[in-house]
Amino acid sequence: MALKPLDIFKLLPKTNCKECGFPTCLAFAMQVAMGKIPLTKCPYVSEEAKEKLAKEAAPPIKTITIGKEGNQFKMGGETVLFRHEKTFYNPTGIGILISDDEDDEKIETKLKKAVEMEYERVGLKLKTEIIAVMDKGKGKFVDIVKKSYSTGKNLILISASAENIKKAVEVSKDIKPIIFITDKNKYSEIANVCKQNELPFVVEFSSIEEVKEEVNKVKNAGCENIVLFPSSKNIKDVFQNLVLLRRGAITNKISEFGYPVLTMPCFMTDNYLKEAIYSSIFIAKYGSVVILSDFYGETLFPLLVERLNIYTDPQKPLTTPEGVYEIGKVDENSPVYITTNFSLTYFIVSGEIANSKVPSYLLIQDTEGLSVLTAWAADKFNAETIAELVKKTKIGDKVSKKILIIPGVVAQILGELEEELPDMKIVLGPREAAHIPAFIKTFQENKPQ
Ligand code: SF4
Repeated sequence: MALKPLDIFKLLPKTNCKECGFPTCLAFAMQVAMGKIPLTKCPYVSEEAKEKLAKEAAPPIKTITIGKEGNQFKMGGETVLFRHEKTFYNPTGIGILISDDEDDEKIETKLKKAVEMEYERVGLKLKTEIIAVMDKGKGKFVDIVKKSYSTGKNLILISASAENIKKAVEVSKDIKPIIFITDKNKYSEIANVCKQNELPFVVEFSSIEEVKEEVNKVKNAGCENIVLFPSSKNIKDVFQNLVLLRRGAITNKISEFGYPVLTMPCFMTDNYLKEAIYSSIFIAKYGSVVILSDFYGETLFPLLVERLNIYTDPQKPLTTPEGVYEIGKVDENSPVYITTNFSLTYFIVSGEIANSKVPSYLLIQDTEGLSVLTAWAADKFNAETIAELVKKTKIGDKVSKKILIIPGVVAQILGELEEELPDMKIVLGPREAAHIPAFIKTFQENKPQ
């Protein structure tokens, strides 16, 4: 929960000694509240105050980490109801369900999909994180758990059998699988296993009124890492429960609601398109994990992109580092394009340059993630800044024809840029990146030799 400056100030020594680098304790408290510096910068904060602040600053939804060092997956840890209030922190985990009543070929195919289905977008790898293994009493559960474990993915172990859960835990406990015992009579026995191995325990509930009691049962058994699971198969009920849990935890500070939530659209419908729609709802609000019955490119990719968008910090646009990028086998005859460092702009422009099949240089200017027109309007992408970058990168030394193509939407700066860069031939490019291939073809046909 975000702390106010005065809450922090009350716990400081109030001596205004300036050793933290700030003129007063209040100024220091304001910086800590904004998250700009850690509390430890004040050498005089008591251990008691540190502990109190840490407790109060803890997110209202517990963060639970699973997986091995280096391949960890975090759930929960959210602090707001709406993304625009701050940001959402831990992206929804996307997983596939494998049941032991499926035939071996299907199981192998699903394992392969879990490992191999990944996509690249705006320079990021989009992939899934979880395999949920379900015991249907066919005797293959532990075997599938072993195979799933070897993929390196995180696991959810689902079974009504305490014995089978224990066997599966033995082969996978080092990656901290999420444990889902579906027989509530075995809660205390398995809660004990989870306690000993520090594993997350799934608490299933059918209505929101049950949550407090069910959570406290498991907590009383000594298990602190809880994942909530609304078991209804009705989309309206599940969605309502997700909202009530998040609102209860953040607004009403109901501690029993403050845990990550597992959603299983794979149990809610047999139609894979409906399943994808339900999943998209749970990614937007407020599923920590979404389990699908299978992965299909046409539904998985949009879900991964949706997740990327929802969990991107709205205050920090995705950016590409400033610099010179070579597209194709460039040589001294290659033209030079310039654009801004908003990631989407970079990937669209570089993609279209690649499509044009004309090896080119692409200059990326740091505009703090703003797109071309916005950066121009904010005076961050103008004749001066472009000229400065051209000189800094010495791109003119690499090309003999010295052609610099600027985005068509900033035609206003053309004259000024010609004055700033008298050695370069400034060419007005198309307004839309999609027109780059046609533009460069026409330009090359018509240019004087
Ligand atoms: Fe106050 Fe601590 Fe900073 Fe001194 S070092 S001014 S006591 S916050």
